[in-house]
Amino acid sequence: MNPADPSAAPHLGLMPEQFAEVFPFHLAVDRNLTLVQTGQSLRRVCPDAVPGAGLDQVFRVVRPEGEVSYKWLADNQRELFLLAHLASGVQLRGQFMLLPGEQTLLFLGSPWFTESTEIAERGLGFEDFAIHDPVVDLLQLFQAQKMALGDAKKLLAKLTAQRTELRAANERLHRQEAETHKLALIAARTDNAVVLTDAEGKTEWVNEGFTRLTSYTLEEMLGKKPGAVLRGPGTDPETVRRISERLRQGKGFSEEILNYAKDGRSYWLAVEAQPIHDEQGRVTNFMAIELDITARRAAQQRLAIQFDVSRALLEAEFQAEGIRSVIETICVNLGWQIGQAWRLTEGRLRFFEVWHPPAVHVPLFVNASRAFEFAEGVGLPGRIWADARPAWLSDVTTDANFPRSAVALREGLRGAFGFPVFVHGVFWGVMEFFSRKIEQPDEMLLKAFTVVGNQIGQFIARQKAEAALRLAKETADTANKAKTEFLATISHELRTPLTSIRGFLQTLLSNLDMQPSTRQEFLGVVHDQSLRLSRLVDDLLDLSSLESGRTKFNDESVDVRQIAQTCLTEIGPLARSKSQRIEAALSGDLPNFCGDAIRLHSVFINLMSNAVKFTPAGGTIRVALHFRDDALQIVVEDTGPGIPIDQQSMIFEKFHRVYRREVPAAGTGLGLPIVKAIVEHYRGSIKVDSQVNRGSRFFVSLPLIPAQNLAACE
Ligand code: ADP
Repeated sequence: MNPADPSAAPHLGLMPEQFAEVFPFHLAVDRNLTLVQTGQSLRRVCPDAVPGAGLDQVFRVVRPEGEVSYKWLADNQRELFLLAHLASGVQLRGQFMLLPGEQTLLFLGSPWFTESTEIAERGLGFEDFAIHDPVVDLLQLFQAQKMALGDAKKLLAKLTAQRTELRAANERLHRQEAETHKLALIAARTDNAVVLTDAEGKTEWVNEGFTRLTSYTLEEMLGKKPGAVLRGPGTDPETVRRISERLRQGKGFSEEILNYAKDGRSYWLAVEAQPIHDEQGRVTNFMAIELDITARRAAQQRLAIQFDVSRALLEAEFQAEGIRSVIETICVNLGWQIGQAWRLTEGRLRFFEVWHPPAVHVPLFVNASRAFEFAEGVGLPGRIWADARPAWLSDVTTDANFPRSAVALREGLRGAFGFPVFVHGVFWGVMEFFSRKIEQPDEMLLKAFTVVGNQIGQFIARQKAEAALRLAKETADTANKAKTEFLATISHELRTPLTSIRGFLQTLLSNLDMQPSTRQEFLGVVHDQSLRLSRLVDDLLDLSSLESGRTKFNDESVDVRQIAQTCLTEIGPLARSKSQRIEAALSGDLPNFCGDAIRLHSVFINLMSNAVKFTPAGGTIRVALHFRDDALQIVVEDTGPGIPIDQQSMIFEKFHRVYRREVPAAGTGLGLPIVKAIVEHYRGSIKVDSQVNRGSRFFVSLPLIPAQNLAACE
């Protein structure tokens, strides 16, 4: 039988070509199990499967198990057989069928491939398989499954990778969340105020610290520019301008600025703002962290005030000038409108100094203050005086103890504070300051002003010491000058009689045979001059002892009328020798005076003897003594030459004598100074009223019971 010849195929009701096409891997064996026919495709896989070859030479029966024989194969027609091609290992799967009457077993099968690639490897194509062969479908299915598996594996790998990535991303997110949470917590809880704005500076978020500081809530701030809400009258416009400029440029800034809370309270902020950029580098937000530095600024301000006050006081030469520049320093430092100083004088606080900036007009208040004086406890100054410590009034216009409240209200002055000034621990006065705003008390500031009060006190003490020193120096200089002048004058005064005495004595000594009458006359002159000399020395000693306070006054109850009477008697002879008339009007109803009889005698005799001495012959001298206005009044009047008006005060100075050609100076020029010293010792006064060529009138007043000598006479 020719295997290639389809006509040789058993008759199966199919055309041989059809059979070959339908079963390309078939084989047929005869009773001897010799191959009698093989399919075309089978031969391509198993080239040795040719008719004539024994089945066992070409194939091994893998399944089912059994002794391979024609009968066994015929008996197991319904079994699925697996034949392994011995040469190639290709397995064939199929079924044996006994062809009736032909003694031939037909095997209908096809190769068992698990991979489609095997088809090509075995030199086959899909066309080698019958159309109905499920192997191809199975292979395709396998292939599809394999591909699906491959895809699934890839997908799995991808999914795994994605999951890993996702987990990592998740972890990152968690970490970020935790971080953000922490940051949010810090931002929310921090004492600092935190503000987040958009690129235009409009608020998107504020933290609790912000609300605590400003009293503005997030809802109130949303969409608003923080600067516009928080700025106030004291905010520096220059700082605001700088901030706007930086924001406009999309840059951060660091500034200190005065802001205002919702209730109007001002506070100082240190603001640190930074822009936040997106991935493209555009500014999306600004984040500002704001620190309340009010306390630090206040401390700086207090120190600055103390420092500036020290400097102002150091530079001031005079008390009023120093106080004024202290007021100015404090007003300028605090931004307050006016400051005034009050000084304790005669038991009242009286207006002492004022300062306000030129632009501040408060004339009514200043004038009202000038007119006021405060008793202890009254008004702000009086209260500070009474409490001896600083005081603060938030609003003077509503204060019950502020007498100037109406005028303060008119001038728009509200807040006030003041502090006392002590000089060596003794209350000197008060400094008070006023603001146009209602000002909340600032305890720390008040404490600082206690220090300022001490600074001013020390300054005043220094000023007083310097003034005292200056005065002492001036007095010493004057005294020194007076002493020099006095020595010159006294030398002159002493030399005049001495020269005269010496001159006459020389004449006497060199003219021993002088006429007795001339000698007598000369000796008389010498005697007079020596008397004058001794009187001069007596008066000098007397006056110097009076002026230095060394004179002892033996005060007792004296009858002044009696003393006046004695003096009249004493000058009587001289007056009579000059034919002068003496008129005395001594009141008979005089109270006794508590004084030193000898000194009072000196007062009368000096005035009376001057009157007699200087009044020409024939003149009149009047002496009067009264008790009027609680004082003894002594009047000594004459019709003498009088004293020129420009010398009337000078005659009470030592050695001053009115030059008169016709009346030679006979006295010492010390009489009136002695009288004046005694009168002033008894707190009295002496005056002269005189007209040239008409006469002079000396008037002495002695208060009757001077406080200082009461005890001596009781
Ligand atoms: P003295 O009388 O010793 O010169 P006084 O001190 O008593 O010194 O007087 C000073 C001067 O005042 C006198 O020198 C005289 O020029 C003038 N003076 C005093 N009393 C009278 C008087 N009654 N009339 C005119 N001049 C007088």
